[in-house]
Amino acid sequence: MLSKLVNLFFPKTCQACNHILTDNEMHICVKCRHELPLTKYHYERPEVVKKIFYGRVELEAATALFYFHKEGSVQHLLHKLKYKGQEQLGQVFGVWLGAELQESSYFKSIDVVIPVPFTPKN
Ligand SMILES: [Zn+2]
Repeated sequence: MLSKLVNLFFPKTCQACNHILTDNEMHICVKCRHELPLTKYHYERPEVVKKIFYGRVELEAATALFYFHKEGSVQHLLHKLKYKGQEQLGQVFGVWLGAELQESSYFKSIDVVIPVPFTPKN
């Protein structure tokens, strides 16, 4: 009851587009989730990210959840995660990636996932 009253005056908004979230949405609205640029590397091309790290560190497998475009929605969300106190977005991305990795045959034997920021310059 109290949370519905609080939500009436201070509605939760999508971290990507700022529209008011429905009761079934958390942090990012369904529309924005569908529009985020998923790489799908962990299903189709796992070597793309892994070869970035060749000669630097030994990896079992590597992937990226999203493509990063300057001024894009992923950059906007990562900025909120890193600099605006929206740490819950890290959990959203972690749960999302975990669910995808469970469906990938390339990542069946993975025990630990370590997030590593990288840019095309890496
Ligand atoms: Zn949205």
